[in-house]
Amino acid sequence: MSAGRRPDVVVLGAGLSGLTAALMLQEAGLDVQVVEARGRVGGRIRSVPTAAGTLESGGATIGAGYRRVITAAERHGVGLVDATPLLRFFREQELVLDGGLVGRTEWPDHPANPFPERDRDLMPWNFARVLTERENPLDTPEDWLDPSYARRDVPLRDWMKGLGLSEAAIRVGYDLNPAFGRDAADVSALLVFFRAAFSASQRRAAPEGVVGFNLEGGATRLPERMAAGLGRGVHFDREVRRIEDDGRGVTVRCAGGSVYRTRRVVCSLPFPVLRQVALDPPLSGLQGEAVRELPSQPVTQLHFGVRSPFWEADGLAPSLYTDGPAGMFAAARPDSASIEVTGFTAWVMGDQARRLDALPAAEAAALVTREIESVRPAARNQLEFIGLKSWGADPFAGGAWATFRPGQVTRFAAAMRVAHGRVHFCGEHLATASRGMEGAMESGERAAREVLECG
Ligand SMILES: Cc1cc2nc3c(=O)[nH]c(=O)nc-3n(C[C@H](O)[C@H](O)[C@H](O)COP(=O)(O)OP(=O)(O)OC[C@H]3O[C@@H](n4cnc5c(N)ncnc54)[C@H](O)[C@@H]3O)c2cc1C
Repeated sequence: MSAGRRPDVVVLGAGLSGLTAALMLQEAGLDVQVVEARGRVGGRIRSVPTAAGTLESGGATIGAGYRRVITAAERHGVGLVDATPLLRFFREQELVLDGGLVGRTEWPDHPANPFPERDRDLMPWNFARVLTERENPLDTPEDWLDPSYARRDVPLRDWMKGLGLSEAAIRVGYDLNPAFGRDAADVSALLVFFRAAFSASQRRAAPEGVVGFNLEGGATRLPERMAAGLGRGVHFDREVRRIEDDGRGVTVRCAGGSVYRTRRVVCSLPFPVLRQVALDPPLSGLQGEAVRELPSQPVTQLHFGVRSPFWEADGLAPSLYTDGPAGMFAAARPDSASIEVTGFTAWVMGDQARRLDALPAAEAAALVTREIESVRPAARNQLEFIGLKSWGADPFAGGAWATFRPGQVTRFAAAMRVAHGRVHFCGEHLATASRGMEGAMESGERAAREVLECG
């Protein structure tokens, strides 16, 4: 396998899905070249070393049932760390509504609580999760693509209304900081059921008392070790701009003039990026429509260090869940060994993220800091802005994860993963039975199998 020889397969993108496909193809005896636009591997996995420890600003938490990710970590010598103590900070948060703190013990009887009697003790960040798991019509995660559930491909809002929930309950229970879409009207209930069924399957797989795992030394370790196993390595700083399939082979053209000629391509680019790439022949029909229209969720994270443990001074939980620009202001414990809080990450999603993205980073940080300090005076001058990562504004991601609008699951899901001549597709957006990092690997395996089946 010399650098001068044409690779059998060129894999576009060195995220988890592309690396999974590349290693599988290499193990089957093919000569594989991975081409990556960034100067690093991992894509939407991004561990950032800071003075406060290693911060995760992308995928990090591994469910106990992530069979592929766990096997890959073991195989590549990356340790798993029990993440349960860290995840506590997502469960135990203080609620901030309309700029005011609502104590957790006050919430069940608080006048702003719009939930029905049975669920008044659910905090807003748990409401949609508990509801969609309890009332989930799907038996298994895979069911979301079963045509018999197609009638559920409706706005989540309609489904919630069908359960008798008020507009206020839908707003507080879903719309404050939505993981999918702008609000409950903008997301397919089927996608949310899929996510809930997948989460439930993770819980069933978990050993008693364990919620999930992190990777020792930071999540980026895994893609780094995977890439180290590639015979040809990864070609960095090659932004793919054009893919031409002439029926006998494929030519991949990058910004800056690099050109690759190969028998087949595995393309892991997220759709907001693939939209910008010229395919010849072009994608058509539902597949072309899916690439143009499938949204990816805007998520912006702001990382802060702390000068003193202000939560000990005011006796509140470290984390806050707000309906303002700070989104979910979650305590971070960047190093796996302790449960000490060493920083915070504001997770801001949907339209709030878009609004922050329109500001310079320092102004966005000032806005978030002001919101925290106004509800929690003990935090005054105690937060130190470290950095901002907008996945929505990232030119090589275009969002944090794929989301489906009402009707898009039944319209696009089957068509969008079909090979286009000699070009095969993978990426978390094309997973059928799992989500996140596990979904990325699932899709990479499927694309590699497709290539191998073509001979
Ligand atoms: C904030 C955040 C938190 C998350 N939390 C979790 C979590 O806790 N658990 C979990 O399981 N998942 C989580 N995820 C999701 C998980 O990180 C992703 O599903 C997974 O990493 C996606 O892998 P991928 O290979 O599909 O895509 P990517 O990682 O995006 O890989 C695509 C690659 O293609 C490259 N590329 C893009 N354009 C071009 C181009 N033109 N030319 C060449 N290369 C290009 C990109 O740079 C990238 O490296 C999170 C994601 C985010 C953003």
